[in-house]
This record gives sequence, C-alpha cells and structure tokens, in this order.
Amino acid sequence: MSRPSPHNTEDRAAGLSEQQETLRLRAEQSLQALAPETASDDMAPDSQRLLHELQVHQIELEMQNEELLASRAEAEELLASYQELYDFAPVAYFTLDPAGKILQANLTAARLLGLERICLIQRRLGAFVAQQDLPILNALLQRVFDGQPRSHCECRLADPDQLPWQTLHVEATLRPDGNCCHVVATDITPLKTQQRQLEQMALYDPVTKLPNRVLLADRLQQAMTQCQRGGRSLAVAYLDLDGFKAVNDRHGHILGDQLLLALAQRMQATLRKGDTLARIGGDEFVAVLVDLGQAQDCTPLLQRLLQAAAAPTVISDCTLQVSASIGVTLYPQDAADADQLLRHADQAMYQAKQAGRNRYHLFDLHHHDALRSQSARIAEICSGLRRGEFELHYQPKVNLRTGAVVGAEALIRWRHPERGLLPPASFLHLLENHSNSEEICDWVLGTALEQMNAWQDAGHEIPVSVNISAFQLQQDSFVPKLTQRLAAAANGSQHLLEIEVLETSALENMAKVATMMRDCHALGVRFALDDFGTGYSSLTYLRHLPADLLKIDRSFVAGMLDDADDRAIVESVISLARAFQREVIAEGVETPAHGALLLEMGCEMAQGYAIARPMPGADMPAWITQWRSSWATRQQAWPARC
Ligand code: C2E
Ligand code: CA
Ligand code: CA
Repeated sequence: MSRPSPHNTEDRAAGLSEQQETLRLRAEQSLQALAPETASDDMAPDSQRLLHELQVHQIELEMQNEELLASRAEAEELLASYQELYDFAPVAYFTLDPAGKILQANLTAARLLGLERICLIQRRLGAFVAQQDLPILNALLQRVFDGQPRSHCECRLADPDQLPWQTLHVEATLRPDGNCCHVVATDITPLKTQQRQLEQMALYDPVTKLPNRVLLADRLQQAMTQCQRGGRSLAVAYLDLDGFKAVNDRHGHILGDQLLLALAQRMQATLRKGDTLARIGGDEFVAVLVDLGQAQDCTPLLQRLLQAAAAPTVISDCTLQVSASIGVTLYPQDAADADQLLRHADQAMYQAKQAGRNRYHLFDLHHHDALRSQSARIAEICSGLRRGEFELHYQPKVNLRTGAVVGAEALIRWRHPERGLLPPASFLHLLENHSNSEEICDWVLGTALEQMNAWQDAGHEIPVSVNISAFQLQQDSFVPKLTQRLAAAANGSQHLLEIEVLETSALENMAKVATMMRDCHALGVRFALDDFGTGYSSLTYLRHLPADLLKIDRSFVAGMLDDADDRAIVESVISLARAFQREVIAEGVETPAHGALLLEMGCEMAQGYAIARPMPGADMPAWITQWRSSWATRQQAWPARC
C-alpha cells in the first residue's frame, strides 16, 4: 500500500477516499466468503442487509486500525531518524528566545559547549561566548529579533583551551511566529587557523617567529603616532650580529638558524611589553623601544640587548658566541619618517661596527644635518656650473729678470647670482674628494684650452697652468678625458698646458700618480708641484714624481723678508730645484722687495699681486701690452725699477 503524500492535503484526501474504497471492496469480498455461516435464510431481507452492512463496517474498521498502526510506526521511525540527523549534524543547532536563552539544542551543540544537553536549556548562549565577542553575538540576535529574517556573525568561544571549537560562524534565522530564532553554529576554527598561518607567513620571519620587515614598518608607524600623542620618545635600534657569518660558514645553515632563534628569544626577553623586535634580514634585527621619557632611558635596554646577543649559546654540543653592533636613533628628536629613521639607525650601526663592534652608537643628528646641507650646497654648485655661472680668471707669471710673460695660472671663480663673485675658498672645499669635482675639473680643462685658443687667435701664445686636485688626478678617467680635450683643441696648445698638482699630501698612491704624470707628459703636458714645502713629504714627491716645476708656497714668500726660517725654506726649495734640475717659481709676490730678494736668491719666475691680480681672460692681451710697454721704457730688472 502506498503511503499518503505528506506534502499536499488534497492529495492526502484523495488518497484516503481511495483507500476507503479499497477497504470496502476487500471487506465485501471477505464477507461473501463468510456468508454461508453468518446469514440464515429465515432472516427477514432487511435484517439480512443490515447485518451484512454491519459486518462490512466492522471489517472496514479493523482494517483501518491495522493501517493506522502501520503508519504510526512508520512516522515514529521517521521522527527518530530526523532526531538523529538533528542531534549528530556536524553543526550545532540552537533555538533561542528573544532574551537569547536556549530553548532547544542538538547533541553537537551540547558537545560544543561541553555540557549535557539538559544543562543548556534556559541558559543564555552569550554565556558561552568570549567576553570580547559578546557584543557581536548580541547585535546579531538584536538584528534578527528586530525583524531581519536572517543574519550571521563570527565569534569565539569563551574558553578556547577547554572547548573543542574556537571560532564559530553563527547564522540566526527568525522563526515565522517571531518568538524564537534558529541558530546554526559552524566550526570555522580550521579556516581561521589557516588564515593565521598565512598571516604568519606574510608578517613573521619563519626562522625566529619575530615580526618581519612588513610588520615592523606597521608597528613603527603606530609607535610614532603614539609618541606624538603622548609626548614621549622612541628609539629605533638597528642591530647587526658580529661574527655570525663565520658561524654559518663553519657550522652550516641549520645550526646558524638555531642560533638565530636562540638569540632572538633571548633578546626578545630583554624587552618590555609594547617594544618590538623584528628580524629584517640575515643577521639584522630592529628593536623599536617605545615610551621613553628621555634619550637616556633606552641605555639600559640597549645594554641588555648587547648582553643577550653576546652571551654564549650551546647548540648540539657546540658553544657559539657572537655579539651585536647597534645603531640607534631617537624619534621625534630625529624628526624623520619611518624609512629615514631606519636608514639613520643603520648608518649609526656601521659606526658602531667601525668603533670596534659589540657596542651601540647613537646617530649623530648634527653631523647628519651638516652633511645634508653640504650635499644641498654641492647640488647648488653643480647647477651653477650648468647655468654657466663659473669663470676662470688668469694671473700672469713673469720672469722678473727679463720681463717676459711666461704664462698664467687659471683660477676659478663663481659669479653667484646673489652673492657676487666668489673665490674658490668659499666653495671648492665642499667638492673635495667628491665625485662631482670631476665635472668641475673637466670644465676647467676645457675652458682653459678654449682661452688659450682665443689668445692664440689674437696673437698671444700664453701657457696656462690649471689646478688639479690629487683626488682628480688619481681617477682612472682623468688621462682619457684630458686626451680627448687636447685632441678637440688640436691647435698645438698641448705644450702650453701645465697642471699644478694640489694637496700633494693626499697623494696616497704615488706609483699610480707617477704613471699618470708620465702619461700626461707623453701628451705634451707639463707638471708643477704647487704649494711646495708645505707637505711633510715634499722631498719624497720630488724624488718620485716627474714634475717639471716647483712652486714655492706663498706663505714662505710672504714671510721671508722678516722671518729667517721662511727665508731658509725659500732658499732650500730653490737649491733643491737646482739640484734636481727642476724649474722654480715663487707665488704670492706682493711687493717689489719680495721680487728683489727672490732674484737675489736665484728665483727668476714669479707671480703675485705686485705683478698683477687674477683677471678675466679677455683682459690679458691689454695687460700684456701695458706690461711690455712699461718694461721697455725702463732697462733694469723689474723690482729694481719700482
Ligand atoms: P693656489 O693654487 O695657491 O692659487 C694661488 C692663490 O693665491 C689664488 O687664490 C690667488 O688669487 C692668490 N694670490 C695670487 N697672488 C697673490 C698675492 O700676491 N698675495 C696673496 N695673498 N694671494 C695671492 P685663489 O684664486 O683664491 O685660489 C685659491 C686656491 O684655490 C688656489 O690656490 C687653488 O688651490 C685653488 N684653486 C683655484 N682655482 C682652482 C681650480 O680651477 N681648480 C682647483 N682644483 N683648485 C683651484
Ligand atoms: Ca696653484
Ligand atoms: Ca699655491
């Protein structure tokens, strides 16, 4: 027999009448089979019919009863299996009243909350949720009982250590009568664990489990904001291990990693709550030390970090020991952004290394500011050069005995748009040993050669000496550039070019410089050793460097009239030049008396204010004409005639 369909009442009614009809037919058949025994011929026909109907009805009832018993058993069986499904579903089911009290719960829910099902009834679901997440759950129930048919949230259980599930996805559905809601809680702990693992990978260093560079940037930014709000300071300590590479090379990476982990844990233990220790690369760590009242407050923390890094560590029977060099900068004293703070601390760390390792070094803000303004000024010089604000002035060199103009020294000037004409002393020192000095050096060479060409075109062959720093001379690019410049000039001015080598005390690689000077000689260029006598190694230079000319420093020339020592030095330079067969010239000849004494001592060539001040190249031809005409009118040597 088919079971009535539970879904549709019409179908069910139709099914019943059909069933009754079938029962009736079966009852009739049963009665006919019994007829001979139950009906007797002497009964009145009406009574016979009534009896027949009664019997049919009775049989019908019996059959119906049987049928009902069968359907009931089936319904009970169905209910039991639904109950089983409800109880053992992989999700927890609750029915809650508007106050959040549990009216019903399945066995999974009881297991989830660690109680017998009966003990859950009439307790608030919120009692089992983590304190911090309670507002989230309450808000969800509020939404649903306010009429939103379905809503969901995530919350954690109150005691994750004790209970099997930790994070739940809670979905609440309002029942049609609005008096209670169904809640389905699904365990999303594995999902959350996976999410945490991904986060861990993105934000933490896998070896030490410390924050990595990404998380450090975030923490540092937050700490800086808090600093500003609270009027406190923080220290960024950049820590590099000393001697870690040797451990890695000797014992291998596995042991190296174990050492890093041990050090990280030890260093971390020295910090306070709120401080951050991050690993940002190989053996480099950064500590952010927050909430400092004054700069000195970080000193004990840094000492503890140093001690933690330097303590011996025993791993697999090996005793390993390294130390740390720490560079520190303080915020907001160092009013930089997060990236700059790290860079400054890194710079200071290098100084700690240079100072002997296993120590910390504070970033020197004032020195840094000075450097910063220096680089700004260097940039200003370079742009001035590109804007054509530089000039070469020329100071004549003469033979005091014959009156011949033997050459001119090219001296750089900066025609500053605001500050006027600046002497080299006001800007050249900034470029000392700086790569930008190459640009200036190249410009000086090019301009001096152009000037010589111009003078040649005007009928004056004037040798020009240019000042080249020892730093420039030691650059590999110097000779090729000079070769190029001379080739471009290509009018035979090579032999008219002379180089005055400055800062001879900075000539570290004498052999190299000597080779370069020979290369330049091969190009036809002459050399003078400038400021001769001021360096400690003048004699050494004289012996090793193929210089053609010695230029007596103007300080000795200036003093020689009154100071016996200066005079002795001038005399000895002149005799040295003679002994080594070099030419000699005196600079800084300020009076005719200086000239006269020089001539007396045997130095004929001179340069100085008494003869002429440095002048623009265009003024030189007129000056030469005037010099020659005044010389011709008098027949004696120049100093004697003044
Ligand atoms: P220096 O090579 O010793 O140049 C001579 C300096 O003495 C020049 O100063 C010149 O003006 C000055 N001077 C000349 N005669 C007298 C005098 O009778 N009395 C006094 N008191 N001073 C006199 P300037 O032009 O200011 O140059 C200073 C220094 O700057 C030069 O000293 C040189 O070392 C450097 N310099 C100048 N031009 C250049 C250049 O183009 N390149 C490089 N690398 N250095 C340069
Ligand atoms: Ca010079
Ligand atoms: Ca000089």
